[in-house]
Amino acid sequence: MNVWNPVLETMPPGDLRRYQLIKFKEQCIYAFKNSPYYAQKFTEAGLKLKDLENIKTMDDVLKIPISSKKEFAAAQEGKEPFPYGELLAVPIERISEYHQTSGTTGTPLRWGDTWADWEWYSDIWATILYSRGLRANDRLYIAFPYHIYIAFWGGHYGAEKIGAEVIPGGSTGTEQRIREIVDLRCTAVMCTPSYALHMVNIAKEMGIDLRKTAVSKLFCTGEPGASILSTKQRIEEAWGAKVFDHVGATEAPLWAFQCGEQRGLHINEAHYLVEILDPETLTPVPEGETGTVVVTNFARKGMPAIRYDLKDLIKITPEKCPCGRTWRISEGGVAGRRDEMSKVRGVLFSPKNVEKAVMNIPELNGEFKIIITREKDYDNVLVKAEVFKDFENIRAELAEKLSKELRNTTTLRCDVEILPSGTLPRHETKAKRLEDLR
Ligand SMILES: [Zn+2]
Repeated sequence: MNVWNPVLETMPPGDLRRYQLIKFKEQCIYAFKNSPYYAQKFTEAGLKLKDLENIKTMDDVLKIPISSKKEFAAAQEGKEPFPYGELLAVPIERISEYHQTSGTTGTPLRWGDTWADWEWYSDIWATILYSRGLRANDRLYIAFPYHIYIAFWGGHYGAEKIGAEVIPGGSTGTEQRIREIVDLRCTAVMCTPSYALHMVNIAKEMGIDLRKTAVSKLFCTGEPGASILSTKQRIEEAWGAKVFDHVGATEAPLWAFQCGEQRGLHINEAHYLVEILDPETLTPVPEGETGTVVVTNFARKGMPAIRYDLKDLIKITPEKCPCGRTWRISEGGVAGRRDEMSKVRGVLFSPKNVEKAVMNIPELNGEFKIIITREKDYDNVLVKAEVFKDFENIRAELAEKLSKELRNTTTLRCDVEILPSGTLPRHETKAKRLEDLR
């Protein structure tokens, strides 16, 4: 069995929940004593140290206030010590790792981790990579620009912890990266799903068949693609390799992941308490219903995050995964984000459904952009998608086909523009697919 931590990954659910409640309590007490933000937050909620020491059940957890990204940002901006502000729970000299969020949904959060936090982070990565069969004899290529964002830095350290060789893709171009993957006989690749597809298109132009490389596993994250069946199938077919999805944020890295069985996302129960709550009432939803994810990490000491609202929407299924892990599992991937779902003509609209439509048409190369505008109180959605070079002569036919698919997946009538290959901007990090100009 592919388990990194046999005790925690196969613990009977009742014991696991008791373990989590103890860890939750310890982290609340730690934060109350060390984090100016949480000391104030808990005090304002009328909580005293003895209330935290008495946490024993999930009902007790509900008495702890929820924090949002907005509150975190306010506790940081202009506050001392720079740049972490009131979120910092250790003397600043203990921070050894600096990262920040991408700022796609507001001001970026500055995130400091201690060396022990970093060990914790790489252990989480080791857990998920090991579950998919990454071993000491693997050679992993990270096709990602090493930069200020936390994504994949942990993957680098986690893979090393397992003993695998790690090749940093750095900031070289796509052609060079492909050549390195081929020449060095890499067995695994880490990148965003849209970049995995971009490499497919470039490899084709270079006359390289990626199915003939030694790559058997792709670890994709940063966008929902790897959990969208049509996107996943397209990447798997072109690479002749398995694709695995996982989700996380700077504030809560890898709180859920796909194991080697490639089912829905497992909740990472060893490192997090993950609650699925009703977005309106913030009370737990019954199993099988979609709710918003509120997460607490157990071990991070530099900047703890307790009952942090990630705004991700997920549905837990009662099914058990054949891998043998006792950790809960979701139906499919993250269903969307509360702040990314916009209303178009009164209908809830998610870019994920546009991606589904694009990926259902094999003549399109997978690159697309959505532009929403408003004219005379009427919302207009324009979807621009690229076609493979060989099919540029049937663009009108493909536009009609895509329009029909979009009607099915979004329930909306969208304008469609089919573009030649290479027209839209490429992204190595999170692809910015949606432009809402209303
Ligand atoms: Zn599993």
